[in-house]
Amino acid sequence: VWHEFTPLAAKVKAVNLGQGFPGWLPPKFVQNSLSEVSTTSNFLEQQYARSQGHLPLCEAIASRYTSMLGRTVNPMTEVAISNGASGALFQTIHGFVDPGDEVVLITPAFDLYFAQTETAGGVCRTVPLRRRENKQEVAEGGEWRLDMKELRAAFNDKTKVLLINTPHNPTGKVMTRPELEEVAALLRDFPRVVCICDEVYDQISFTPHVPLASLPGMWDRCVTIGSAGKLFSITGWKVGWCVGPQHLVQCSAVMFQWVAFSVCTPAQVAVSNCLRVANEPYEGFPNYYSWLLNEYSRKRDIMRAALTAAGLEAVEPQGAFFFMADTRRIRLPQKYLDLVAGGMARDWAMCRFFTEVIGVCAIPPSAFYDPVDAGLAANYARFAFCKPDDVLHEAAARLLALREYQAPEPAE
Ligand code: PMP
Ligand code: GLN
Repeated sequence: VWHEFTPLAAKVKAVNLGQGFPGWLPPKFVQNSLSEVSTTSNFLEQQYARSQGHLPLCEAIASRYTSMLGRTVNPMTEVAISNGASGALFQTIHGFVDPGDEVVLITPAFDLYFAQTETAGGVCRTVPLRRRENKQEVAEGGEWRLDMKELRAAFNDKTKVLLINTPHNPTGKVMTRPELEEVAALLRDFPRVVCICDEVYDQISFTPHVPLASLPGMWDRCVTIGSAGKLFSITGWKVGWCVGPQHLVQCSAVMFQWVAFSVCTPAQVAVSNCLRVANEPYEGFPNYYSWLLNEYSRKRDIMRAALTAAGLEAVEPQGAFFFMADTRRIRLPQKYLDLVAGGMARDWAMCRFFTEVIGVCAIPPSAFYDPVDAGLAANYARFAFCKPDDVLHEAAARLLALREYQAPEPAE
């Protein structure tokens, strides 16, 4: 999906709200951290890092998770640095999954979970999130619901991994404590299963984010994954990590030792500095992360207003930097209906139409589903709002053209 829509957006000069990467320079303290390491007098900071991670970075991460999880995390044994969260997922999935093992994914699911499970010889079992209809339930638990009966039914004696992602890409769902407690109960019933917790958006959560590993008994069952790319708007640095008990993190670290052996040392040195400075007051906020969350809340408000003004239903995210928009009432022009008739998923044709005709690129969420239930994505498009305000405003202006393609309001 990235190979198609990023070049297409560039070709037709669409405003790109497709691929989710921040459209601004990282903060000065982040830029300075990297320029300082380039002139360091410590030659070791230019050489291979310790395979499991440069120690100052492991220490900064251990300290971050010590406060987030309410337990002391050992930087030597309970942290492993990776090539972005993508690398963390790869080495963890490949560390655990043997041919024939099953991996339970909650869909829509970030596309590389499927491919990484399959390259490890594993089999994906998917459980779809469902839209809530009852307004009261939406107010209490958000727009998307995980059916615990369906989740339990996906488990069997071949299940090796459960992968959860909160805050969630692409829906923005943030799992509530009661939901996580039910997941914990399920994991207790299946002691062989390891839970991979993709929490790369942990600081971009508009409602309290609860790490599963902080629940009673869950530390020993979880590998929690994070990314400096999301925290500091530096997706190109590719620094990510895994945190968990030694017996689990070791599987991931050993796998990595035979792949790239170590992650870019200067980037690790710089990120360790960023994690330290981020806790200090920033731009009038108690720390950098509160500033970041405030920025994303503002951008979310601009995006919601843009989608609503264009006549799309904006499905409220509780975290991350995406909106799912309901496109049910858009009437596609004939050219795109022909693509659907030729077998293209409706959401895919819709995102082509948005990019080519409306001039705003969005991502078709069917890329985040197993083909058997990709139909659940038919009426949605994902818009990323991690872009400068002027870009969001330009997108808003262009999206107004969608009003011409609206089917009339259904009669009451
Ligand atoms: N997990 C999720 C849910 C993501 O959305 C992304 C990237 N946007 C990643 C993992 C990969 O992170 P990284 O860029 O650090 O590889
Ligand atoms: N995670 C980002 C997104 O969902 C980018 C993914 C990628 O380019 N692989 O948009």
